[in-house]
Amino acid sequence: MQSEELSSLFLKVQKIAREVVAPTVDLDFEDVKWPEEGIRALQKEGFGGLVVPTLYGGRGCGVLTLAKVCEILGQECASTAICFGMHCVGSSVIAANPTEAQQIDLLKPICDGNHITTLSLSEAGTGSSFYLPQATMKELSSEVFCINGSKTFVTNGKYADSYVVSVVSNNDQEELGLFSCAVVAGSSDGIKWGPEWAGMGMRGNSSRTMELHNVQVTNNNLLGKQGDQIWYIFNVVMPYFLMAMAGTYIGVASTAIEEAKNHLSRRYHAHTGASLAQNSILQHRLGTLWASLEASRQLTYHAAASFDSGEPEALIALMSAKVQVADMVVNIVNECMTLCGGIGYRKDSKLQLLLRDARAAPLMAPTTDVMRVWLGRALLGQPLLSD
Ligand SMILES: Cc1cc2nc3c(=O)[nH]c(=O)nc-3n(C[C@H](O)[C@H](O)[C@H](O)COP(=O)(O)OP(=O)(O)OC[C@H]3O[C@@H](n4cnc5c(N)ncnc54)[C@H](O)[C@@H]3O)c2cc1C
Repeated sequence: MQSEELSSLFLKVQKIAREVVAPTVDLDFEDVKWPEEGIRALQKEGFGGLVVPTLYGGRGCGVLTLAKVCEILGQECASTAICFGMHCVGSSVIAANPTEAQQIDLLKPICDGNHITTLSLSEAGTGSSFYLPQATMKELSSEVFCINGSKTFVTNGKYADSYVVSVVSNNDQEELGLFSCAVVAGSSDGIKWGPEWAGMGMRGNSSRTMELHNVQVTNNNLLGKQGDQIWYIFNVVMPYFLMAMAGTYIGVASTAIEEAKNHLSRRYHAHTGASLAQNSILQHRLGTLWASLEASRQLTYHAAASFDSGEPEALIALMSAKVQVADMVVNIVNECMTLCGGIGYRKDSKLQLLLRDARAAPLMAPTTDVMRVWLGRALLGQPLLSD
């Protein structure tokens, strides 16, 4: 995509973020509401197939564009950014190796803005080891399979048209991380949804439990060859997911800094007649936060560009970026709350919402702890999945 085309794309996303998404944000936090308005506006504007290759009718954007789109959305609403990001991760998995039927039945409606998809990987049993599903897929005939199991924290849960579900199949060996992926239609018989997501933040995500009771799928629903989906984890899921996440939380951190800047500029003390913006200690603190944001932002852009251009070390940069961003956003929002004093600590302040949302960044899989271990293993030349 040419740079002019990209600039126009970002401007359109910014318009949606400011005019459609921002007014729906509820600072009181009482309502749990999936960000329908923002997602539908993004689909309507032609962003449903953002990361789907042009060959299949999509916009063919890479992870750098995805990170920047999520950053723009995340400046207004982290849940909208993550819900849209998960749709993009799901669509990139479907688009990685689609059959002709999947191009027509899934990728076309995704690109036409008529279909939302998402990832259903995590399970209560294996938690942050999200690459170890225990849900099963049993072969009923050479054409028909039956899925049983339970998935947790399914973002876009109940609202998506399809779910990319990880399963162990009849044919899978006991080898670590070997599993299969199937696309399950949201309307399938046998899907039962858990209650509304009640997280401390990210409340719009609708990240709920999905039970699958004898859900039948056919050959057309299988993604790639049975058992080879660990390739998807490192080559598709991780790059797209890590960059959607990193972008989102860079957006959250930059909004927190804006809040702090505004407060310091507007807050005057009666006894000095000066604004807090004139205090050198606070200037120093704000500058330190900005440098930390900018370092994480540039690392993320660098990592995403490395992946998009096929550099072999890209995965290490992508993992480092998400780890850095997750630490950075929690610290920056927390510090900005300090800079905004009692006003920032109000129950309905923007910073309390940002802090709640930011706190999810280190614990969404691949979690910060797990990724630090993987980074160490990668540097030591050891297999990433060795426990
Ligand atoms: C808002 C939100 C949205 C989500 N959306 C999705 C989604 O759309 N799809 C999806 O599939 N999942 C989703 N998840 C699930 C998310 O990926 C899980 O939270 C994650 O898998 C962590 O699982 P857990 O809570 O069971 O952690 P646990 O496995 O109980 O881990 C607890 C802690 O121990 C650490 N830990 C565990 N094992 C190791 C290890 N081997 N080495 C070092 N540290 C370790 C972890 O890092 C973590 O900090 C979402 C979660 C949240 C909070």
